[in-house]
Amino acid sequence: MNRDTVLVDKMVYIKEGIIEKIADNIEVSGIQIFDAENKYLTPGLIDMHVHVWDRYELGLYLSNGVTAVRNLWGMPMHLRIKEDVIHGNIISPTFFTTGPKLTGSEFIGDDNLNLTNPSEAKEKVLSYKERGYDFIKTYYGLDKEIFDAIIEQAKIYEIDIVAHPSQKVSFSYHLNPQIKSIEHVEEIVQQPLKFDLDKSKLQSILDSISQSKHTSYCPTITVFNNIYQMMINDSILDSESLGYMNPLIKKVDSKNQFERWFNAKQEDPATIERIKEQHDFHITIVKKLHEAGVTIICGTDAGIGVTLPGFSIHKELAFYKEAGLSNYEALKTATVNASQAHSIMSQLGTVEEGKIANLLLVDKNPLVELSSLENPIYVFVKGRKLNRETLNSYNEKAKNRKNLIASALRYLENLIIEK
Ligand SMILES: [Zn+2]
Repeated sequence: MNRDTVLVDKMVYIKEGIIEKIADNIEVSGIQIFDAENKYLTPGLIDMHVHVWDRYELGLYLSNGVTAVRNLWGMPMHLRIKEDVIHGNIISPTFFTTGPKLTGSEFIGDDNLNLTNPSEAKEKVLSYKERGYDFIKTYYGLDKEIFDAIIEQAKIYEIDIVAHPSQKVSFSYHLNPQIKSIEHVEEIVQQPLKFDLDKSKLQSILDSISQSKHTSYCPTITVFNNIYQMMINDSILDSESLGYMNPLIKKVDSKNQFERWFNAKQEDPATIERIKEQHDFHITIVKKLHEAGVTIICGTDAGIGVTLPGFSIHKELAFYKEAGLSNYEALKTATVNASQAHSIMSQLGTVEEGKIANLLLVDKNPLVELSSLENPIYVFVKGRKLNRETLNSYNEKAKNRKNLIASALRYLENLIIEK
């Protein structure tokens, strides 16, 4: 993924989860050799914006070729997953998580950390770092004083910030070197553009993003497009694929979101067209972000609403293609670009000596056909080979799972510990 090309007839030697050597011919005795003739070895995909609710979802990511995820709504359960991944107790994508969402005082949501002053903000940053969260997630409602405290503290403790833009500061405020990625293209529409789908106003915003070389943009086109999908499909909640959602999310969040948009279109049928127009504008934003040279990192917002874990990444990549990115450029967003967003992810994203062996073996060249990534023959995660049969079994196990109460208890645990 450093060059738009295929290296032919190579051997790749994986040792203890790391790509040890790549050469025309490697002679090592006593190891298993796979003949991948006429097949393609490509880096595993990275979804940079997910919400994980249980461990079944880890299997759904793997079966879809996603070998690393960045979880953006951290809870104690995610620290346990991280521990188990690090110690090799579970088979999972490489797992990164932010801490709980930091918000301002008046932003009401049952698990938001409503920070009221800078010293409280600093304490949180330190405590998340010490407890093992990988990143700080900033959210709505942070005013400049509290935000400055978070940035200052994150800099001291060397922990990157991922920002869902706060409406209390200017959009350009988020182009701070400590903030490595900004989430959601719709926030550009909702905040600086104030829902005015105006391309000339957009350009100056995109120019400012492109001037800040440390900022990646994570579009999450899929989750917004799913609002449109909900509006045009009244039986979406009963569709078979929704069986892959966590039962608690399906019962609460998927249902609430569906009802909200169902009511919106009852009140004003023109809402459907407005949502579609906004989605189309999001595609334009990605096109222009790309043209402006902004690093795009692939994120879906999977795990909430009707946005499916794992499966959604293929939609997201298709949207980037629609925005004018070549297959190579779209693939970069979910591989090498993602790995470069944070120093702790730098061992991912390419098929290269010294990198973690998170790899996909696929039938057709993804540089020609992106859809070949949907059903990898093998997924390697830290060098461990998972065949299609195993991957399909993860899908089967996750489908219509019955862990509603366990999920609710984990959510409750989060409220008790983090609030
Ligand atoms: Zn999200």
